[in-house]
Amino acid sequence: MTKETDPAAADKNDLTQAADFGFEANVEQLLELMTHSVYSEKDVFLRELISNAADACEKLRYESLSDAKLAAVANAPLIKITLDQDKRTITVADNGIGMSRNDLISALGAIANSGTRLFLEKINKEKTENDSGLIGRFGVGFYSAFMVADKVDVATRRAGEDQAWIWSSQGKGRYSIAPLDLSEAPDYGTLVTIHLNKESEEFLEPWRIEKIITEHSGAVSTPIDLLSAPGEESKRIADGVALWTKPKSEITQEEYTDFYRQLSGQFDAPALTAHWRAEGRTEYTVLAFIPGSKPLDLFDPARKGKSKLYVRRVLISQVTDLLPAWLRFVRLVVDSADLPLNVSREVAQKSPELVAIGKAITSKLLQELTKICETDAEKFASIWENFGAVIKEGLHEDPSRRDALFGLTRFASTKSDKKTRTLKDYIADLKENQTAIYYITGEDAKRLAASPQIEGYRARGVEVLLLDDSVDAFWVTSALGFEGKPFKSVTQGLSDIDAIPLIEKSEAEPTTPPDVDALVKALKELLAESIEDVRISTRLTESAACLIASDQGLDRQLAKILSEHGQADLIRKPILEINPKHAAIQRLASLLREKGQDVAQDRMHLLVDLARVADGELPQEPAIFTKRLAKLMAEVS
Ligand code: ADP
Ligand code: MG
Repeated sequence: MTKETDPAAADKNDLTQAADFGFEANVEQLLELMTHSVYSEKDVFLRELISNAADACEKLRYESLSDAKLAAVANAPLIKITLDQDKRTITVADNGIGMSRNDLISALGAIANSGTRLFLEKINKEKTENDSGLIGRFGVGFYSAFMVADKVDVATRRAGEDQAWIWSSQGKGRYSIAPLDLSEAPDYGTLVTIHLNKESEEFLEPWRIEKIITEHSGAVSTPIDLLSAPGEESKRIADGVALWTKPKSEITQEEYTDFYRQLSGQFDAPALTAHWRAEGRTEYTVLAFIPGSKPLDLFDPARKGKSKLYVRRVLISQVTDLLPAWLRFVRLVVDSADLPLNVSREVAQKSPELVAIGKAITSKLLQELTKICETDAEKFASIWENFGAVIKEGLHEDPSRRDALFGLTRFASTKSDKKTRTLKDYIADLKENQTAIYYITGEDAKRLAASPQIEGYRARGVEVLLLDDSVDAFWVTSALGFEGKPFKSVTQGLSDIDAIPLIEKSEAEPTTPPDVDALVKALKELLAESIEDVRISTRLTESAACLIASDQGLDRQLAKILSEHGQADLIRKPILEINPKHAAIQRLASLLREKGQDVAQDRMHLLVDLARVADGELPQEPAIFTKRLAKLMAEVS
């Protein structure tokens, strides 16, 4: 927060004096971006200030539950916005919780907001000078005020404290905090005064402010009044009635969208809005959204959702584990009438009532998803595109919901390069004698579709699921199967498709020539160090060879993922399968017979290295591999 090297450090402990502080380094960077922003929709600053004011009112409401002194002073929450044409200022005043001196230092001298941090990371990662769009998408919080301000003053008094403070900054690396005379201070709450810069005077127009508020902040839970000049009569522009308490029939989709934006800090339109009231053993109201685009932290290792828990309209806390991790992209508000109001945040999270509510919400959301899936394929496809990889985590983590989730899951396969196939479709297209649901896992469905291991399946018209999300490697091993058919990797174990007829039968099925048996034996000996076994394949039709995971142990893709996470001992030697009908194999077999191993050896090594390359791996010794290949090229006439 404050740096030891700060020149003004000596003064800081004298609380009767103004003190000067340097911003935390990343705030400085953010401010730099804000003051030079080319982002055209600068009106987001107002949305941010209003959202902070409303949060502050909700915090005070919560704290006064357990603090009688606060309860006694707290008035009805209100946000008041005042325009001053002479001073060229906009003031956003709230009667919320307010800030102590320490609050000011930690909240307005550093970065409190995780969305803001993500914004900075993204800007830094992409090294983009062009912030347009990004600012709007993130909601960069309080500091966005510096897009329109030369100077910002924050006069504040923490509810229940005697001292008031004024924080002030021109957004150029430093800020000051001074004690504020109580005659100038609010009883409690905060007054943010924006001294508009030259380019931003448009915001002094009352209609402009009114329009921004109705568009962006109409659904905040605190009423908002506008005064077009100090001392003027105020005009109410937002009623502050919590949206979820209104009957559905009285809410427009715009209001829902607006509320979603405030809740999620995303500025797209929700793909799904679900608003319902549960009655019965526990009573609660839920307003839930599935975002229309991917939030940035979707694959954050913490993998937590964010839900706002209210008890009879009082915000108790953000709860992170109300919904299972595979629904962490859902943004929702739940307002319960049954939890005790004075429940502490920690207790609320773990209370059995809340656990039951979480389960019921999960079921309902699954139902809603299923409904879309059945009635609006296009919409479902976009939800699946954004969140399918997350929802599939549920197949692994939530066995009790697996059947319902299987109903939603969409796959790419050898029959569809888009993710449109369902397991039901798959089962309906089973071939005669087919005993399993076949899949291949990897990083990219297109590449998987070209894998040698699936050739034999293709030749028999057997569909292979192309699973290219990393979670796929996990659930296929824990899900027991679907409609009685087990999941089976085409890159592991013996292939069991001999009994399924080929689509185009080649005239006389040649039996394996004896030369090839000798080749198998020689390969086994030569490659013993890196290959577990060599065998003749039924899964190949076009390629000469491929690698297969051994029957015991893990599928090769899963072993690869786990070894990237440090579990290298799980990697086993693969099995080499060769295609006896392939010209290269037959030629190699006769070469071995006629000229002996010394001559054939290089090509035997090449064979297995080519199979590695087909799997997207490197040859075992790339330099030797290229030498062998070059030598071969020199020989070919
Ligand atoms: P966020 O609202 O996401 O936390 P902001 O940058 O908008 O991030 O605000 C930073 C912090 O400043 C808030 O978390 C809050 O602690 C404090 N703050 C800002 N405005 C107010 C206000 N009007 N009343 C009380 N605290 C405020
Ligand atoms: Mg904020």
